[in-house]
Amino acid sequence: MYRENARTDSEHRVGRLYVLSGPSGAGKGTLREHALKDVPGLVYSISCTTRRPRPGELDGREYRFITHEQFTDWVTQGRFLEYAHVHDDMYGTLKDDVTRELESGHDVLLEIDVQGALQVREKIPDAFLVFVDIPSMQELERRLRDRHTESESALRVRLANAEKERALKSEYDYVIVNDDLDSAGAELRKVITS
Ligand code: ADP
Ligand code: 5GP
Repeated sequence: MYRENARTDSEHRVGRLYVLSGPSGAGKGTLREHALKDVPGLVYSISCTTRRPRPGELDGREYRFITHEQFTDWVTQGRFLEYAHVHDDMYGTLKDDVTRELESGHDVLLEIDVQGALQVREKIPDAFLVFVDIPSMQELERRLRDRHTESESALRVRLANAEKERALKSEYDYVIVNDDLDSAGAELRKVITS
């Protein structure tokens, strides 16, 4: 279903898949928004999750918010390119969403956790994996607290998981330390367009 070498013949350009991972609160969502504005033809593939929407989040915009039952059915039917249990919920990328965009010539951006990124690498060796890192754990905690999206216990889970995720960054093709947002945004744009 997937082409291993996405750069193609002259008649049919197949897009390339880019994967962003990193600790929750590192700034992946912020950098993703910058990249989508800055890079023409880049599309974001919306994930499915069993987590509840946060205030302001809309079904079909941030995520497809689905039930555990639906998620399990889709796993059984083999509909996910990758999926993982992250923090306290299930998250996954639908194969069809990605294939459709790649086949129509768009570069596709996924924002997924490290377990999912490694599954993508197995299935699409041509995918380019970018790890968004943080300047320090103190700064990560500050960003998560300032975001006001998690309860204290959820925040603790995310901070503990951050250490495990950072231990896997050497598996990635490229690491961006998101210290200054403008520089990190420019770096990501360069990675995708070069
Ligand atoms: P993630 O998607 O990785 O969970 P977000 O994009 O939601 O992270 O960023 C977490 C918080 O940190 C947000 O409030 C965001 O505005 C802020 N943030 C992102 N990048 C930076 C940066 N370079 N410097 C300071 N704050 C940042
Ligand atoms: P959040 O709940 O903060 O939106 O996301 C929590 C974590 O789930 C983040 O690390 C995010 O990258 C990851 N995530 C989001 N969508 C997917 C997905 O489709 N697959 C996997 N494996 N992880 C995902």
